[in-house]
Amino acid sequence: MAPSAVSLDSTNDLATAAITKTISKSAHSLLLNGMPNGASDSLPELDASRIHITLTKEPRPVPTPNSPEVWAQSTCTDHMITARWTFDHGWENPELKPYGPFSIMPTASVLHYATECFEGLKVFRGHDGNIRLFRPDRNCARMLMSSTRISLPAFPPLELEKLIKKLVAVDCPKWLPKGNPGTFLYLRPTMIGTGSALGVQKPKEAMLYIIACCFPTLDEPASQPSMTYEKPGMRLLASKDDMVRAWPGGFGYAKVGSNYGPSLLAQGEARERGYDQILWLFGPQCHVTEAGASNFFVIWRTREGRVELVTAPLDDKLILDGVTRRSILELSRERLSRSWSGDGTIFEGLDVIERTYTMGEVEEAIVEGRLIEAFGAGTAVSIISPIR
Ligand SMILES: *Cc1c(COP(=O)(O)O)cnc(C)c1O
Repeated sequence: MAPSAVSLDSTNDLATAAITKTISKSAHSLLLNGMPNGASDSLPELDASRIHITLTKEPRPVPTPNSPEVWAQSTCTDHMITARWTFDHGWENPELKPYGPFSIMPTASVLHYATECFEGLKVFRGHDGNIRLFRPDRNCARMLMSSTRISLPAFPPLELEKLIKKLVAVDCPKWLPKGNPGTFLYLRPTMIGTGSALGVQKPKEAMLYIIACCFPTLDEPASQPSMTYEKPGMRLLASKDDMVRAWPGGFGYAKVGSNYGPSLLAQGEARERGYDQILWLFGPQCHVTEAGASNFFVIWRTREGRVELVTAPLDDKLILDGVTRRSILELSRERLSRSWSGDGTIFEGLDVIERTYTMGEVEEAIVEGRLIEAFGAGTAVSIISPIR
């Protein structure tokens, strides 16, 4: 079955703008030094149509939803896609092959200098029986932005999207059975620097790969240590000033592995103390940025009486441009900004605002009884997670 992509039109598309900027920058460097990454421009591009397919001879059983095996989040589907890139020869033909380990040299760039970026998106088996991806073009555009931020090779995002759909087409009919509507797999496109030169330099070899991992349905309350049916919602522990996730001029806006490893210490401490995630604050004024690996929103009433949906902005490049975040902003602007009433319901329209705001403002809103709710938004959390 051909997967269909859900896509909403967007006029002010910052992600696309960022990509255009990246590309125009690399176009500039192309004029100066030849191709991005310095390679010559006749080298092959990533090309999904040249994929070579080897199906597994040892298909594995599909685990039952939410079984311990699924909770371990280490079971992937029968196949994966890989594509190698080298500085001298460009992109090799992609391969779809049995899922399994690959070998890299102990000197590989990724193991020493964190030349790694990734994406996370879900493929769903709908209640109507169809298989769907949610706005995969956004993930592919963001992956290009992330890879070029850490000097991994550029690629046409559409080719990555085609490769993702290829893996979905091969593995989803079996791994997302029709009998389990509402289930999903987590897709993880990844790129690593595999060049084996130990010197601190741009990697001259890289590998792009895509895997599909079995995930528990995270909206089951038991999925978060402190979640219960009586009181749903994540508990957040505010970060302290000795632990900063991202900073101006850094790379907090890119989905690169080096943003995550160093944050696990704070997250581990939060877990030990009975919280689910860290609420990342920034700077002496305690700007509220993100919650764990999800974007963070508050809904409050202003002192003037307006209802506002507020989230941190993208322009200072501290936070990730979440696909979920963007969808929430677009939908709220389109559908929730006007008040209406009918059928005994009164809905108060809200102002949708992207701006820097502080923990002090949140505290004031709580003290003055103006905070209505808060939530985390991201693919890996259950799309929208209320904050307790
Ligand atoms: C992936 C991620 C998000 C959420 O992005 P989505 O595209 O909505 O899944 C938010 N913040 C961080 C730090 C992330 O890594």
